[in-house]
Amino acid sequence: MAPQSSRAPLEFGGPLGAAALLLLLPATMIHLLLVARSGPARLLGPPPYLPGLEALWSPRALLLLLGWLGLQAALYLLPARQVAEGQELKDKSRLRYPINGFRALVLTALLVGLGVAAGLPLRALPDMLLPLAFAATLTAFVFSLLLYLKARAAPASALAPGGNSGNPIYDFFLGRELNPRIYSFDFKYFCELRPGLIGWVLINLALLLQEAELRGSPSLAMWLVNGFQLLYVADALWNEEAVLTTMDITHDGFGFMLAFGDLVWVPFTYSLQAQFLLHHPQPLGLPMASAICLLNAVGYYIFRGANSQKNTFRKNPSDPRVADLETIPTATGRRLLVSGWWGMVRHPNYLGDLLMALAWSLPCGLSHLLPYFYIIYFTALLVHREARDERQCLQKYGRAWLEYCRRVPHRIVPYVY
Ligand code: NDP
Repeated sequence: MAPQSSRAPLEFGGPLGAAALLLLLPATMIHLLLVARSGPARLLGPPPYLPGLEALWSPRALLLLLGWLGLQAALYLLPARQVAEGQELKDKSRLRYPINGFRALVLTALLVGLGVAAGLPLRALPDMLLPLAFAATLTAFVFSLLLYLKARAAPASALAPGGNSGNPIYDFFLGRELNPRIYSFDFKYFCELRPGLIGWVLINLALLLQEAELRGSPSLAMWLVNGFQLLYVADALWNEEAVLTTMDITHDGFGFMLAFGDLVWVPFTYSLQAQFLLHHPQPLGLPMASAICLLNAVGYYIFRGANSQKNTFRKNPSDPRVADLETIPTATGRRLLVSGWWGMVRHPNYLGDLLMALAWSLPCGLSHLLPYFYIIYFTALLVHREARDERQCLQKYGRAWLEYCRRVPHRIVPYVY
């Protein structure tokens, strides 16, 4: 298959940047796992020790991981009451997606609850994080290679706008095929919200249980981190259909970047605050806890309001909830919202997400930088993501996008950025 869009500008520093990220992302994750359980918990120092292969490789961990992926795939395949259509593709067709992610979360919770009642040692999970993360990384590499090979048989219309430069390392990283599927099983959509996000809250729960065993009861800080992150995951799955209008689904190919991000990075690094709290208990008073809850609630309100408004508008611009909003027409026939949340800044959903990220770190106190890794990394990710999206929107909408930027001059934070 000839490269379909060799003129697409290279992102992430091109092949060299992609090669560096292939090594750097797994190494960073292992570093974070090691540091979180070490006494000094120094984000910027060297890791407390370099694990040998015997600490990383465990056939049991690999089996557990594959069992987890199998369970989530089985829940995905259960008949869904609701099926949604994705955005229009290059060949004018639309794919159909089962909307049953929230049910997968509830059924997983039930199964885990039954398992724990029957003696499943869930609190032992934190001790297996390192070999589990290693097994997940190997799985992501093998899976991405299979996706890369599968794309060779895909028609040009099924390829992503990026990820088809002809350079194998870059294309392996970015992902060649937009929506790789076997029959109706959509790999990217499946990985986007289920095994990783549900795995993340399961790891958090296991850390909470281990803390309860260690100290008699979970700390208030651990409750807050678990509660906030469970809300985030449950919300994502409850509003699963909204993922169909995000960049990951509509623009990015499915390769190592998303496979590793969804299956490995999210569960093992997003649970960092709970990992840190298990080994470094932090006192937290009620007034501070209330202020942090308020911050999370404000962030959530903005995040959910903005995402739902855009999603409702993209699905049906005449929906009464968005019909009165001011819009700008574009040459493509689609319109851009210029009032409501999307008139405040150009990425209000990122602003809400960042406020929540701060609320997840604050329960860990101010003595260590490590629990703030998430908000530091996430700020960098969203600023970079925003720039990528701006480029794509400028390409898509031309003068209309420039007019939108003139009307709404700030990107993420009103009057600041
Ligand atoms: P968005 O959901 O913000 O989607 C961007 C797209 O929205 C644009 O490409 C454009 O697409 C459309 N759009 C932009 N401006 C307007 C407007 N004024 N009116 C109407 N449509 C507009 O992008 P993401 O996929 O980056 O983010 C989705 C959510 O996921 C966010 O809340 C983000 O914070 C979160 N996220 C979380 C991550 C995590 O690790 N926790 C990682 C990444 C994202 P078009 O016009 O083609 O519809």
